[in-house]
Amino acid sequence: MQCPYCSGDSSVTETRVTADGLRRRRVCTACKRRFTTYEKLGAPGLKVSKRDGSVEPFDGDKLYGALQRIAAHRENVADEDLRRIARDIEATLVDSGRKSVAWSDIVALALTRLGNIDPVSAQRLAANYTDESGAVRFDGSEPNRPTQQLGLPLDDEN
Ligand SMILES: [Zn+2]
Repeated sequence: MQCPYCSGDSSVTETRVTADGLRRRRVCTACKRRFTTYEKLGAPGLKVSKRDGSVEPFDGDKLYGALQRIAAHRENVADEDLRRIARDIEATLVDSGRKSVAWSDIVALALTRLGNIDPVSAQRLAANYTDESGAVRFDGSEPNRPTQQLGLPLDDEN
């Protein structure tokens, strides 16, 4: 993000997750002035890689929708909590500076946060996205197949 005063580079000193998106405090690395930016959707260009090799843009609303399905009928979980979790994960990913993230990493981030407010929902999430081997599964995909475990030569190949 360019500094509005001198067009120098800036670094983020603080990220707050609000209902509307992200509020970031930044400091210019050149002139040292501080300024604040507001970002509605904080993850432009962030890609989610799925186990089947496909890649799609990160979609915070989709994540929120997935969390809503997981926490359906859980009276102690407010939609606002889920929205905050989705945005918090988004902020975490953006702050990490990564260009792509595995869906399993997103599920892991969601598990931690969901577990703090409702362990039952977290267990549901784990059950929904984890296959028998304990590996995290991607939404709508088949459980992991042995043929996808690359880099492990079979004994009979020698
Ligand atoms: Zn500056």
